[in-house]
Amino acid sequence: MMLSWLSKHGDYFIIKILYFIVFKKKFFPNCSIWEAQDSSSGSHAWHSIIKGRDVLLKGARWRVGCGEDISIWNDAWLPSQEHPRILSDIVLGFEDGRVSDLINPCTRTWDENLVHGLFSPEEATMVLSIPLSRTLVEDKIIWPFTPSGNYTVNSGSKFLTKLNFMYVPADNPQQQNEVWKLIWGLNVPSKVRNFMWRACKEATPTKYNLLKRKILNEDKCEHCGVESKTTAHALWNCSTLDEIWESTLGFEDRSQLGAPNIMDLINLTHEQRKNVDLLAMVMWTIWHRRNQLRASSNVFPKAQVIQQASQAIATFQQSQQSLTNHAAATGPQHCAQWHPPPANCVKLNFNGAVFPELGKVSLGVVVHNSQGNAIASLSEQAPLPFSPVIVEAMAAARAITFAHELGITEFMLEGDSEEVINSLRSIEASLTTYGHLLESAKSTLVTSKCIAFSHICRSGNRVAHNLAKHARHVRGLSVWVENIPPHIYDVLIAGPG
Ligand SMILES: [Zn+2]
Repeated sequence: MMLSWLSKHGDYFIIKILYFIVFKKKFFPNCSIWEAQDSSSGSHAWHSIIKGRDVLLKGARWRVGCGEDISIWNDAWLPSQEHPRILSDIVLGFEDGRVSDLINPCTRTWDENLVHGLFSPEEATMVLSIPLSRTLVEDKIIWPFTPSGNYTVNSGSKFLTKLNFMYVPADNPQQQNEVWKLIWGLNVPSKVRNFMWRACKEATPTKYNLLKRKILNEDKCEHCGVESKTTAHALWNCSTLDEIWESTLGFEDRSQLGAPNIMDLINLTHEQRKNVDLLAMVMWTIWHRRNQLRASSNVFPKAQVIQQASQAIATFQQSQQSLTNHAAATGPQHCAQWHPPPANCVKLNFNGAVFPELGKVSLGVVVHNSQGNAIASLSEQAPLPFSPVIVEAMAAARAITFAHELGITEFMLEGDSEEVINSLRSIEASLTTYGHLLESAKSTLVTSKCIAFSHICRSGNRVAHNLAKHARHVRGLSVWVENIPPHIYDVLIAGPG
């Protein structure tokens, strides 16, 4: 299916450019580029195209719209780099199943019972994290490794490198899920969260992992001589790390924690109410120092690891705090000044908030008239999607359908995600992971008209933000017409937005 789709619609990817004209006659006269074989007589450019195509076939993924074009068992449609195809056994009677069979056509939501019945818990969770559009839109193949969804050579080679360091762990999927939520919620820079996730999956280039992939033929630790240098050894167990961990508050006696791998270690640290932020930051600093040592001998001494890590954590958490304070400060900032819409028009501000511990996101929308009065507002919970950027698009889409439901004829839409606002403004079809949500919402704009999409700083979008946060406490959907919920008054009085 993917092959035939790509041969029909492959023009979304740069790979198609020129080459049909230049190469088709010589190298693949009787087939499409997707079936063409590499040839030893081919030029360098031809080898590159074939290589690029193979990368595309490995990495390209279906974005679920209506789901009718996607085979449940054969196509790549899960939001996972390791196994984008369903690995659960095919269930009798569902051999030819399409993804649309898993979607309730009336509510446009996943049929949760069926999803749990057909797939392993891990795969079911992944399926349920795929956001669905409210109306039927086309299924599309996208390249999920760039923000735009378009393939680039650079993202292709990065994807291949990562793929080399991936494997499907046999661990308990439930535990993986918990750890994933924990890591996502850490109050550390995102590079540290990413690193911890890779460390959990043994997706870091330690000697052990390189040996497993046959890149090295021994895996002895170059610092202490111990065999089998796993990620846990490199970051935790190696005896040369004693002085670092002995001076890390809460981890002085690490032999008590034991821990054969990083995932167990994170779980244990969390269970014992130790500081997981600190654990992650120290591990990242150890790793960073280790990489620096390879490149040059002029590296900060080991004794400074803990100091550097603590400082980095303090700087990061302070900057987060000042962002929050900044947003909460009364008196709107220059960039964040909220303005009411022009006469005879209303403005919808939207925002989303993430609650990984509940497996939920929440969406907030507030509608203001030209006098700056709030005339309607909404808080709604939705399932947690597989990527945070999708949340803002879900909120934007919800705002548009809210306008439609209220029968508003002309409105402005405003949010604090530049990416989503730019996607809304663009007339081209978006190949992002959330493009179908916006496309579907825009398709409902038949009787009403959005006259402008505008971007505002987060601090100018406070009411929508508070409404989104409020949805944590409400089940399903809350709508206030001609009003906003009382607890938002304070925010509103401080300056609307
Ligand atoms: Zn060692």
